[in-house]
Amino acid sequence: MAKKPQLTTSAGAPVASNETTKTAGPRGPALLQDYQLLEKLAHQNRERIPERVVHAKGWGAQGTFTVTHDITDYSCADIFSQVGKQTEVLSRWSTVAGESGAADTERDVRGFSLKFYTEQGNWDMVGNNTPVFFVRDGYKFPDFIRTQKRHPKTNLRSPEAMFDFWAGQPESVHQVTILMSDRGIPVSPMHMNGYGSHTFSMWNKDGKRHWVKFHFKTQQGIKNYTNETSEKIIGSTREKYQEELYNAIDEGNFPKWTMYIQAMPEEDAGKQAFNPFDLTKVWPHDDYPLIQVGELEMNQNPENYFQMIENAAFSPSNVVPGIGFSPDKMLQARIFSYADAHRYRLGTHYEALPANAPKNSKVNHYHKDGAMRFFTNDFGNPDAYYEPNQHEGPVADFSVKEPPLRIDGDADRYYQEDADVDYVQPRKLYEMFDDAQKERMYKNYAAAMGPCSDSVKERWYAVLEKVHPDYAAGVKHAVETLDTDVNTVPITENTPIEDN
Ligand code: NDP
Repeated sequence: MAKKPQLTTSAGAPVASNETTKTAGPRGPALLQDYQLLEKLAHQNRERIPERVVHAKGWGAQGTFTVTHDITDYSCADIFSQVGKQTEVLSRWSTVAGESGAADTERDVRGFSLKFYTEQGNWDMVGNNTPVFFVRDGYKFPDFIRTQKRHPKTNLRSPEAMFDFWAGQPESVHQVTILMSDRGIPVSPMHMNGYGSHTFSMWNKDGKRHWVKFHFKTQQGIKNYTNETSEKIIGSTREKYQEELYNAIDEGNFPKWTMYIQAMPEEDAGKQAFNPFDLTKVWPHDDYPLIQVGELEMNQNPENYFQMIENAAFSPSNVVPGIGFSPDKMLQARIFSYADAHRYRLGTHYEALPANAPKNSKVNHYHKDGAMRFFTNDFGNPDAYYEPNQHEGPVADFSVKEPPLRIDGDADRYYQEDADVDYVQPRKLYEMFDDAQKERMYKNYAAAMGPCSDSVKERWYAVLEKVHPDYAAGVKHAVETLDTDVNTVPITENTPIEDN
């Protein structure tokens, strides 16, 4: 048998024992000089880092993105430069509200984040499994998240807080409808779509800009659990997604998604009845059909979950030349808040960690020092620590700047009155559901809203009434009769429910 490697201290010195504390006599007290014991205990105390404020429970994998269709008319980003081009990807999927030990199959929106290690630096697509979100203004984000977390006194999740907030925030009804629909509990991360949700932009080599939406459609089919099935699963395992994802990849059954974009010419943005930069809206497929781009295949389990997935830091601020932002107010807020969350959770130099460091491009910047500055600048000249300099330090490249964007309007705080435009798309979604889907949604509401006060219930029914009177009546009836038994509703297949 091969000789095992020698155990060392973190400073590399050989260790004499990893079992017996140095003591004064066989029964005597421990000696403080046994620094290796102190070191071991001190390290154990520091094994946890703060969990993410949102999206704490997650599952991830590594894989490959392959371009299958030419979109160079829309984007000059190197990642899309050639059909057949492949780029390494890191993914992390998550629930939003639960803590890092939460059960996987809870009703919640799922995060769907991708880090593309392109040759022009990392591009992060930090999306969800829903094409819209609960709020459209960054001011509302901390309040919304607070309603999803524990009540300060009871330390319990609070349906009262959730529906109170949503009722005062009717723009939420689109996302709440999806959450309460079959898609609220995916069977696994492999069985759900991913959406960039925000409007982003792309520009081509001629400087022509389009606004774009990103879609990643699962090739495994969308499959969902009912509340009843998910409760049974949670009774037997809280780690259903981790088990299934890990085993699928381990056995060579690699999950795949087809990537599409929707593209809107820059000048069309002002012509829509709805605001195309409003995160509570989709772009209708008929008006902006899906344009196929490529295939995402997740084919590798990380060697070390903590190193690659817990340390993964996705931020919508990570874009590359050819992909840009839009005036979406929530996106603008997330550009700051995601990178800042990582600086707090992981440290100033989080982007130098293995999960986050670019793999296929060089990092050349002048950020200096700070905690955990364990790397030097790549350009190798210690005299070039400021800019401009007479040395061979890196310089900015004006050729990658995005085309100018014309902005009109007076600086102000624009309050959007409660308007029918917020109910049009949820209405369309509601009308798409067949009777059985509607019945299941009503019962999911009954399970979720049962504990709410009458005043909150009435205010939420009033919101639903504006979407569709049948929607309000269906939910009200289910809540009043506390009818939560979805298994009484006919479904084509009991477990799971497939919607396409
Ligand atoms: P379409 O009929 O072309 O699109 C309907 C889409 O609804 C489907 O393609 C599917 O999206 C999605 N869908 C089906 N079941 C559910 C569900 N339980 N929860 C959420 N989405 C579901 O019409 P439109 O493009 O005009 O959209 C109509 C409504 O569909 C929208 O108001 C919106 O609520 C919803 N929707 C629209 C999307 C879009 O990007 N246009 C994306 C997702 C939902 P998918 O193919 O992405 O699975």
